[in-house]
Amino acid sequence: MDLITTHINADFDALGSLVAAKKLYPDSRLLLSGSQEKAVREFLGLAKDEISVLSEKECRLEDYNRLILLDTRHRSRIGLAAALVDKGIETHIYDHHPRMKGDIVADKDVYEQVGATITILADIIKKKRIKLSYLEATLMLLGIYEETGSLTYRTTTKLDVDMVSFLLSHGANLSVVSSYLNRELSEAELSLLTRLINATERVTVKSVSIAVIELEGENYVGELGLIISKLQNVENIPVLFVLIKTKNRRVDIIARSSLPSVNVNKILSHFDGGGHASAAAAKIHDGDIGSVRDKLLKVIKSNIKVRVRAGDMMSDDINTIGINERIDAAKKMLLDAKVSAMPVADKGKIEGVITMRDVNKAMKRGFGHSRVKGYMFPVVTRISRDTPLGVVQKIALEKDAGVIIVTRGKKDIGVINRSDIFRSLYRGMFAGPRAIKKKVVVNMSGKMRSVLPKDIIELLKNIGSLADGMGYSAFVVGGLARDLFMDVKNLDLDIVIEGNAIELGRLLSKKLRSALVVHKRFGTATVIAKDHLKIDLATARREVYEKPAALPTVEFSSLKDDLIRRDFTINAMAISINKANFGQLVDFFGGEVDLAAGRIAVMHDGSFIDDPTRIFRAVRFEQRLGFTIDAHTEELIQCAVDEEMFYKVEPQRIRDEIVLILKENEPLKALRRMAELHELRFIHPKIRLDGELVRFYNSIEKICRWYEETCLARRSIDKWLMYLMALFERLSCKQAQELCGRYVFRRGESLRILSYKKCAGRIIKVLRSEKPLKPSRIYALLEKFSYEAILLVAAKAGSAVVARRVKDFLSEYNQVRISVKGDDLKALGLKPGPRFGKILDSVLHRKIDGLLKTKKDEFDYVRRFIS
Ligand code: ATP
Ligand code: MG
Repeated sequence: MDLITTHINADFDALGSLVAAKKLYPDSRLLLSGSQEKAVREFLGLAKDEISVLSEKECRLEDYNRLILLDTRHRSRIGLAAALVDKGIETHIYDHHPRMKGDIVADKDVYEQVGATITILADIIKKKRIKLSYLEATLMLLGIYEETGSLTYRTTTKLDVDMVSFLLSHGANLSVVSSYLNRELSEAELSLLTRLINATERVTVKSVSIAVIELEGENYVGELGLIISKLQNVENIPVLFVLIKTKNRRVDIIARSSLPSVNVNKILSHFDGGGHASAAAAKIHDGDIGSVRDKLLKVIKSNIKVRVRAGDMMSDDINTIGINERIDAAKKMLLDAKVSAMPVADKGKIEGVITMRDVNKAMKRGFGHSRVKGYMFPVVTRISRDTPLGVVQKIALEKDAGVIIVTRGKKDIGVINRSDIFRSLYRGMFAGPRAIKKKVVVNMSGKMRSVLPKDIIELLKNIGSLADGMGYSAFVVGGLARDLFMDVKNLDLDIVIEGNAIELGRLLSKKLRSALVVHKRFGTATVIAKDHLKIDLATARREVYEKPAALPTVEFSSLKDDLIRRDFTINAMAISINKANFGQLVDFFGGEVDLAAGRIAVMHDGSFIDDPTRIFRAVRFEQRLGFTIDAHTEELIQCAVDEEMFYKVEPQRIRDEIVLILKENEPLKALRRMAELHELRFIHPKIRLDGELVRFYNSIEKICRWYEETCLARRSIDKWLMYLMALFERLSCKQAQELCGRYVFRRGESLRILSYKKCAGRIIKVLRSEKPLKPSRIYALLEKFSYEAILLVAAKAGSAVVARRVKDFLSEYNQVRISVKGDDLKALGLKPGPRFGKILDSVLHRKIDGLLKTKKDEFDYVRRFIS
């Protein structure tokens, strides 16, 4: 029998979860350890005939062989049932709290980022079409409502809302619910509220106003949570910490936050507490309230993120150009002010914007004497000074406005210049480039000989001597250099030339007699040598050196310029390939040290602002190499993620990084980390890493292994695409279609994604059938789909029958070929036409079904068919 239980001090989410879980594990008893919230006790008192709950005294642990744990993963919070955990019996957990270190490790652990645990269970109940009684539905609704502040807390998700409507459709009674939620305060509670209000002290941390309330020796009554919500509403307090010193030298902290920039869960984790970003609690045993308070303020300070708003980044003297100014005069003003756009004013009022582009256009046509009025853009983009940076950015991108005017109320108070806002501002906020650490001569040529194939080393030497002849310096950079240190062969030939890479590329392609692709604008050339080996050559500005190159004493400032623009220190090392210095390592930024320490670190603090795709790259390298993103770099990631930096990036570049991640050996590892860093929502807000997706990925892995072992020679499959389709599982057809469009997937890729999306459900339904299916039926069903979609169907269905049928299709039915050809039909006197196809199909189907064996069988059958 199963024992279902939850945390002590059960609230309605906990109680409702118990009742919901009983629907899923019917052969079970419910246990409530410790005390319950007062309202919960009252409810149980009234419903004791319908809902039977054991107390610790009534529960005999030896009766149970499985534990179902709800709304918590903390061993210390479950009372009696902890003994079962220690015994190691099978345990299933359903919980909407994020997993943390030290949690109970369960055999099955269902986590969803939703507002209430009941929501997770209700969703399963709904999918399994299990009926609920009126009382059950009401209690579950009550739990969701309590836990989400009647769907108003920030933790509320669409699924919570959906489950509320599901419960209402099962007869949940809203007036019962509200009678429990909007309970009037008792006299004692009211007096506590007044005391709380009087004890409220406000402190400002990084311009966020925070209330800290200390209560000493209180014997608090009723539900403190309810009173605190009231307090927040009454006093309009966005962030609040209540410290309560109880009698036995214990300090309780209760925290609430309605600001995304203040995560109270994170803050209280420093006190071994937890909860959600918006509501959390902690207990400190044997604490002194004064020192707890001091520590708390320190932790708060280091955990509040600086929020940049329009008012912080604007410049407050607004330079304008008069509307009747001449174009040539306007050009001079723009040049003098070193800006590419300026607001245009008429009698002190801003009426439009003129950009350098407009001015140049007019000048080109000989209209230098015309008035600004005729060439300005007559629309002004205004934003309030409280607009957060992320939004400013979005607006700047969407309205292609040269400048944005910042307002306070109706008044224009400043101006933001679009072209240079982000970089300059962020740079100022953060530290500059990392210092150069050391300069020891390290020669890599021995490593190169042991790791790289001979012909590659020959090739590098060749390029080096070509460079020597032209007076250039040449270096291999990036992945190849990095991987050498770990004895990994990487044949990405990324070469930086101090000199003209295109010229060198021309010479190299002649010498190797191979193709050359030139990008003049970027100063790069790609030579495609034999066996499709690509050699990328990039130009770094050539500096004139007084002494001829003698690494590493001479500063290669142009190489350094190139390297400093790279993503991480470990990817920013270079190895000289000129003859005199072949194999010498150039490591300006401590890449080698970071490699040895297993650390992913950015080059400078503005890195993710310059290029947010590096956020994905950091995770990819971290997970592939088994490294760790260093703490500071992780903070910068958090910052960029919070500021929604991804909206700045072209979707195609995000796509490329997603594809690279899915092409890694274990994409799930990287996805886990991305979920942790809250990055997944940038692919699509609905994408979530839950148990279902993990299982899906594991079955994909399994079926692909089968395919590769048995059918590989026949057709290669894009495994990454299957992982992508699985990632899109929660999306509707329409959303998937939109996403394919936004990310500009290739046509073939989009088609495979969408055909799976549209048809998977139907295919699974047919293939799952218990009745025997003729092989030809299966063939006809699957034949038009991509192998990726078909394998995915097998992975998704999680059913042995479906898997067997799919496998038979791939390894047998789809390999059957017939001997009769169109020409044979002609020879039998048939005229070519649609009937041809039908006859041939019919032959194929009968052969697949094993009814035709030999060539003669086929011809006999065709003859019978015709006559
Ligand atoms: P892989 O083994 O996955 O190919 P890699 O290091 O070679 O790893 P690439 O994507 O091939 O990675 O890029 C080559 C090099 O170019 C990197 O090592 C890095 O120095 C640089 N680079 C690539 N993308 C970026 C980026 N977004 N920002 C800065 N530098 C980058
Ligand atoms: Mg590479």
